[in-house]
Amino acid sequence: MLIDAHLHCTGEETTDDVLRTLDDAGVDVGVLLAPFLSHGYSLDDADSLRRANAHLSRLVRGHEDRLIGLCVIDPRDPQAPGDLRHAIETLGLHGAKMVPTGWYPHDDAVQPVFEVANELKLPVLFHSGIFIDGKSGRFCRPTFFEALRAYPDMRMTLAHLSWPWTDEAIAVGLIDLIHGVAPDDVAFRFDLSFGAPPAYRLDVLRKALSVLGSGLLQFGSDCFLPCPGEMLRERRGWLTALLDELEVDVPARERIWHGTARAWLRDAPNLPRQDDERPLLASHHGWLLRADHQPGLPSVPRHRMRWRPVCC
Ligand SMILES: [Zn+2]
Repeated sequence: MLIDAHLHCTGEETTDDVLRTLDDAGVDVGVLLAPFLSHGYSLDDADSLRRANAHLSRLVRGHEDRLIGLCVIDPRDPQAPGDLRHAIETLGLHGAKMVPTGWYPHDDAVQPVFEVANELKLPVLFHSGIFIDGKSGRFCRPTFFEALRAYPDMRMTLAHLSWPWTDEAIAVGLIDLIHGVAPDDVAFRFDLSFGAPPAYRLDVLRKALSVLGSGLLQFGSDCFLPCPGEMLRERRGWLTALLDELEVDVPARERIWHGTARAWLRDAPNLPRQDDERPLLASHHGWLLRADHQPGLPSVPRHRMRWRPVCC
């Protein structure tokens, strides 16, 4: 089972294109983002995002067992809360992608969108880290997303492991684990669509696995559709080579290839179930624990997590 949890649409792809790409790449499920970086679509043009979400709705409809659509929303737009609700309840999309450019996650003006995302219990993917196109990444530091812990039913993924702020991202992710929250229920998980240049990748992945474990990490190619399956396969190969070098075991790899994303996407309609799917228990030391490994280990739901001053 393989889920590519970060695939960009451009508006030029067809459903057949996408399914062929997934088949050629050996990917079972693609998490597709509505177009916002290609010609005719822009984060600064809310009308274009509405068209983008409508395009994505048509693209995934009838193929929800393999195509999971995330709408793109600019939370600064006054209509954004309604657009988000429309995308989920009417267009049949499953979650949202948001890119902090010109707004911080803790800004008062953008909170209404997160209230809707929380009410609808949505998976949300955020760009986090530097931008490669020259936009300022100053809005996208991992600690800025901590304000969104105020929305306990929203499940968030920070893309690119927030490079170059990977240490900061790992610290943000660790907090739930320290407090005994099971990996499936944490506020933040991270995708391994590499923002880090090759020279950093092994070091970044080693630290993330050592501190967070595979339970908070998921694969995403960050490819732009339409594209040949070979491109997805190549990016999958980058991660496989690193996992080989770090001698990561099979259960941990399975978690990265599909388990973390499945938990993030909870209740995705028609997503095929795996027979060996079992919830992960809390892990204070970060490594993957399956339910039958340590039956006595406590796991605390996020809602009941007690914040206490364990350090200064
Ligand atoms: Zn991307």
